[in-house]
Amino acid sequence: MSASEQRQHQQDVAQSCDYDVIVVGAGLSGLSAAHEVKKIYPECTVLVLEAKDRVGGRTLTTELQGAKGKDNWDMGGQWIG
Ligand SMILES: Cc1cc2nc3c(=O)[nH]c(=O)nc-3n(C[C@H](O)[C@H](O)[C@H](O)COP(=O)(O)OP(=O)(O)OC[C@H]3O[C@@H](n4cnc5c(N)ncnc54)[C@H](O)[C@@H]3O)c2cc1C
Repeated sequence: MSASEQRQHQQDVAQSCDYDVIVVGAGLSGLSAAHEVKKIYPECTVLVLEAKDRVGGRTLTTELQGAKGKDNWDMGGQWIG
């Protein structure tokens, strides 16, 4: 699904359903917020909206050529603490 199709899909979902909580952005903050809400209020309905075609926000792992072949490199958060 392209980014524009995904955005349209998210708009359609948001307009056609009722949610108790809507989180904008699926970076670490948004995903953590959604997780915390569901942990405390499991019955709560939560919708996470993300503009990009992936979750994670500024954290991004990508495959790059290393000395011993391809390897996964972290292009965002390296130390989560
Ligand atoms: C190179 C680099 C190295 C880093 N290293 C570390 C590290 O070692 N340790 C550490 O703790 N932190 C590190 N950080 C910082 C860490 O990555 C960020 O602080 C953290 O990821 C921010 O998360 P966030 O959810 O607040 O924001 P973001 O990751 O920016 O997520 C926001 C999300 O919201 C989406 N969004 C925004 N507006 C809308 C909208 N209107 N509708 C829908 N979606 C929307 C965006 O597309 C994005 O996915 C690093 C960052 C970089 C770039």
